[in-house]
Amino acid sequence: MLPPPLKALIDHFSRLPGLGQRSATRLAFYLLNQPERDLHDLAQTLKDLKTRTKVCPRCFNLTSDSTLCAICADQKRQQNLICAVEDILDIIPIERTRQFSGVYHVLGGLISPIEGLTPDKLHIKELIARIKQLTAKQDSRPIEIILAFNPTTEGDTTALYLERLLKPLNVKITKLNRGLATGSDLEYADETTLVNALKFRH
Ligand SMILES: [Zn+2]
Repeated sequence: MLPPPLKALIDHFSRLPGLGQRSATRLAFYLLNQPERDLHDLAQTLKDLKTRTKVCPRCFNLTSDSTLCAICADQKRQQNLICAVEDILDIIPIERTRQFSGVYHVLGGLISPIEGLTPDKLHIKELIARIKQLTAKQDSRPIEIILAFNPTTEGDTTALYLERLLKPLNVKITKLNRGLATGSDLEYADETTLVNALKFRH
């Protein structure tokens, strides 16, 4: 019989994605053998995860406080070039390429009526408001919105919906060039593919 804290930890770990009972047990025993200070650090990190992670009020990316995220706050980035993505995880591979000089807009999902994800549940109205605000600026430059969704039915539905919605706003709408095979995820795309997808967007 295992001591209750160890058993509780194994229970927690075994509920994590990709971890079965066996690997959860191994991980718990591994931690048990670590110096106490390391475990304190880990515990503190877990505590901070929710309390010190906020959402950017402009693009819905993550930020460490309630002000704009590092990307939105960066003066060198083109605010009139907005890459719309399904989810925060999609930003990471695009940023890794270091080839994108614009900003992002995280929709928080894709339109999927079966899953009850209707357009009003996504950050679409905020995107529209953002575009209108940019257009209203005196020195407003042409706005381009890149629809960078995964090539799935939901991705296509969302792109089509946004294209119709954005057309009257006089913005240029482009899509990633899909060297990416149908069904493949942005999250797992290799760098060269992504660089080309951005470069040859159409
Ligand atoms: Zn932001």
